[in-house]
Amino acid sequence: MKTQSQLRKLGLFDARVPRYTSYPTAPQFKPGDWSDKAAGWLRAIPEGASVSLYVHVPFCRRLCWFCACRTQGTKTAEPVGAYVETLQKELRLIKAHLPDGVTLSHLHWGGGTPTLLEPQMIADLAGAIFDVAPLAEGAQFSVEIDPTEVDAARIDALAEAGFNRASIGVQDFDPMIQEVIGRPQSHEVTREAVELLRARGIRSLNVDLLYGLPHQTEARITDSVKKVIDLGPDRIALFGYAHVPWMSKRQQLIPTDALPTPEQRLDLFNTARDLFLADGFEEIGIDHFARPDDGLAIAHRNGTMHRNFQGYTEDQAEVMIPVGASAIGRFPQGYAQNEPATSKYQERVLRGELPVARGHAFVGDDRLRGRIIEKLLCDFRVDFNAVAAEHGADAQALAAMAEGLEDVLPETTELSGGVLTIREDARPLARIIARWFDAYEMSAAGHSQAV
Ligand code: SF4
Repeated sequence: MKTQSQLRKLGLFDARVPRYTSYPTAPQFKPGDWSDKAAGWLRAIPEGASVSLYVHVPFCRRLCWFCACRTQGTKTAEPVGAYVETLQKELRLIKAHLPDGVTLSHLHWGGGTPTLLEPQMIADLAGAIFDVAPLAEGAQFSVEIDPTEVDAARIDALAEAGFNRASIGVQDFDPMIQEVIGRPQSHEVTREAVELLRARGIRSLNVDLLYGLPHQTEARITDSVKKVIDLGPDRIALFGYAHVPWMSKRQQLIPTDALPTPEQRLDLFNTARDLFLADGFEEIGIDHFARPDDGLAIAHRNGTMHRNFQGYTEDQAEVMIPVGASAIGRFPQGYAQNEPATSKYQERVLRGELPVARGHAFVGDDRLRGRIIEKLLCDFRVDFNAVAAEHGADAQALAAMAEGLEDVLPETTELSGGVLTIREDARPLARIIARWFDAYEMSAAGHSQAV
């Protein structure tokens, strides 16, 4: 199969499908009174378990036009300080339900811009988190770093708190592209941030890069990839730019006539991919690359890699506790999402409620389908026998779910011995193939282009 012609023939170049960082996906979560349910899910965590915890910081000094993240602009530290106090209160509410002896195997601060927090706020927040659950031996503590909004004092405060992984957003280094996406950030400023991080012993550094941006050409993405490689990262996330101006008003400032065509998007991805592979990175799933000795590459080779709201992870914890406005958590029983609006989130925490606003309790074959989709996006193959054994299900019934896939997406997969494999040249279609196993109806409007 030639991917370009196959995509065109099947009319899939404009297909919009979820990124499947959860199953069911977040648009399927239902509003309601989730606080008691979430409290019960917290109480059901076994004593002494290792869990993950995600903290969302929904503030940015600048609002980049390309970004569809849930965040709000602020020029002062005041609202950030008030928010950190609310986070501390929410953590105390969580602690009231959590069994004894729980530790953190993974802690992630995302946003927004977590590095807007002043050093004392960083220390206060970390202290409040570790009062609920300390870091486990060998735990990973990662923070999203904006190189234009960080300094030595903040990195020192993070290092003091024990962070050991950093993720830096680059998107593209071309000045003209940066101008039209509203995100100026020079290579020099980025390099200085990387040097600060490395000097504090940060051993794992991730860089986010985007393909599919306005005015992006193969020459420009080549230049950006070379500059990214020059920074010496351990991991790369190469995401496709999702143009969804009906969801993110800021994106109305992006010149749509300068966006690459779907065919050009695929070429841009392949150009960047080839450069990373030539430099010794291993390809991980649909959009990541990692050095062979990086934990993610090792988990990928061992078949123990997972997919969660942060993308690919080697985190094995079954529970991710959400903290902060709009944060989403996962429990063996389902998903729980906090109030998306910061003001509503703060009101509820101040009233002493767990601020969970939406969620989904697993029903029927949710977990089975979720696992099949996760395996397809992590490994490009799923062993129905293994998934059936994990879940006490019937392997033949699972394999039967793939019936009809070949008719709809011919020459993309092979089913043999109860193992469904996505053919190598069909890997760009992985999300579309995963969609086959999604039993929920979806409105395409909210999802990103499949390629
Ligand atoms: S890219 Fe980062 S800094 Fe820019 S608006 Fe999004 S979260 Fe904020």
